[in-house]
Amino acid sequence: MSSSPSPLETPVLIVGGGPVGLGLACDLGMRGVSCLLVEQGEGPPDHPRATALNARSMEFMRRWGISEDVHAAGTPEDFPHTALYVTTFADFEIARIERPGHGGRAPIGPSPERPQRCNQLFLDPILTRRAKSFDTVEIRQLCRLESVTEAGDHVVATIHDRAKDERFQVAARYVVDCSGGRTVIRRALGIEMSGSPYVGYFVSIFVRAPELWAHHAMGKAALVTFVDAKGLWRNLISLDGRELYRLGVNGKTYYDAPDQVDAEGLFREAIGKDVPHEILSVRRWSARNVVADRYQQGRIFLAGDAAHLNHPAAGLGLNTGLGDVDNLGWKLAAMLAGWGGDRLLDSYEPERRPVGLRNIGHANTSHNSERQQATHPEIAMDTPAGAEARREMGASLVGAQTKRVITDGLALGYQYAPSPIVSDDGSPPQPSTSAEYHATTFPGSRAPHVWLAAGRSIIDMFDQGFTLLRLGADAPQPAALEGAFAQRGVPLKVVSVDDAAIARLYEKPLVLVRPDGHVAWRGEAVPADPLAVVDHVRGADTAAFN
Ligand SMILES: Cc1cc2nc3c(=O)[nH]c(=O)nc-3n(C[C@H](O)[C@H](O)[C@H](O)COP(=O)(O)OP(=O)(O)OC[C@H]3O[C@@H](n4cnc5c(N)ncnc54)[C@H](O)[C@@H]3O)c2cc1C
Repeated sequence: MSSSPSPLETPVLIVGGGPVGLGLACDLGMRGVSCLLVEQGEGPPDHPRATALNARSMEFMRRWGISEDVHAAGTPEDFPHTALYVTTFADFEIARIERPGHGGRAPIGPSPERPQRCNQLFLDPILTRRAKSFDTVEIRQLCRLESVTEAGDHVVATIHDRAKDERFQVAARYVVDCSGGRTVIRRALGIEMSGSPYVGYFVSIFVRAPELWAHHAMGKAALVTFVDAKGLWRNLISLDGRELYRLGVNGKTYYDAPDQVDAEGLFREAIGKDVPHEILSVRRWSARNVVADRYQQGRIFLAGDAAHLNHPAAGLGLNTGLGDVDNLGWKLAAMLAGWGGDRLLDSYEPERRPVGLRNIGHANTSHNSERQQATHPEIAMDTPAGAEARREMGASLVGAQTKRVITDGLALGYQYAPSPIVSDDGSPPQPSTSAEYHATTFPGSRAPHVWLAAGRSIIDMFDQGFTLLRLGADAPQPAALEGAFAQRGVPLKVVSVDDAAIARLYEKPLVLVRPDGHVAWRGEAVPADPLAVVDHVRGADTAAFN
């Protein structure tokens, strides 16, 4: 960007300081990459959105050094992640789905972390503090990006500093659009969103109701769905496991006039009785299940809600967005450090868009199954017909909704396969479902977690550079591969793990893991052409992109 007239230059401009932009700032900060994040707003969110962090997102928090803070700020250890379906708290329970693998603090089998509930009200400030703790990260609030122009080897962004009411320009080698569903960048680039025709209109009521569970007999639950005779579904989401909730109410009339919503009345109607509470705020939001047709144009990348939008019922929006920046962070770092191949960044879209399509597809299907439940006019009646309606709906709900709320396969089992920077070893792909995760080192998958020592997971090693694991007592000496990495200037550490059980889990004696923890290559022996493998995994094998 030699001849740029711009007063400000940055290697990476992150647009948007929501959780996805902040996550990218943490990832780049951890890798020592300089970046500038501009956020049009000021301060932490004052109205709740995402709460459910899956185990993979918690692994990212762990890598960024904040998982303990997220645990401490999130739902208390003993608060159950139960999904409960009731008519009202004063009347009948319809169904209950327990999620024993969620909540608490003990790690689950396949991850050193557990899914954690931590609303953005608490998460975003933790991410902001952590991002600011890196010398290489600069955050400017009250700065709104107005336009971007591609200019050869850089992108020029025009930013409005709302505090000073001044405009300034930034020249960035790369721009990552993390500015959410209303992105001006995606629209300016002419990138469309495709997917389900569904559009849902909602209001979200933020309410404080201390120890709500003490006022009814159905116990604590993270997600409560109220079903009435007209088939109206309202959701009460516990935000902190103590006193804060978000009540979601569906309806275009409410959406069109959020200021006229009778929040008190809706809360009382859903709960079914008077309980001490305080309405804190009411906001409207709309839901769609769509994915951007492209995730990249030149030096500009879309991530998070800027790239995909989904109904939040399956808790996938933020989690998918954090996966995007996990994929992008090390690639940007590699390009700026000079060892990334010419096409490395072009692997972002073919790796992440299929994950977006899969997750948003799941959100759409599971949300459809909720909307398509038959209505039962007797559902709230204290009669044999009412009891039968509840039994019937309960059975149907447990069958359909378990898939919605248990998504460990989506969280941990996504694979970058096929990918132009992953070496396919010809083995058949592992079967995977949205609910179940199966540990595998199938190329492109997340390298499985296993404890190496108390509190130390094998995945804690995968951060800055590639890691070549030698597994088992007889693993080959990989000097030729090490030499090839050194020749290309690609950071590599070789780690020998002489443990038969771990060697079995990892399936091959040599497993090469990328800085984002995904398997890039695996084999029984050092490859015949080690330089070809290094060039493939660093995105320099241009033929792989055809
Ligand atoms: C009611 C609700 C509940 C949800 N629950 C869950 C859940 O449990 N789990 C889950 O995974 N997801 C959930 N989601 C989805 C989740 O909230 C989003 O996926 C997530 O917030 C996306 O983060 P983001 O950083 O991409 O975008 P956003 O959070 O939208 O952040 C974008 C940021 O960019 C800023 N910005 C926008 N334009 C500009 C500009 N031109 N210049 C500078 N800054 C700009 C905005 O001010 C904003 O701060 C929920 C969503 C809703 C509405």
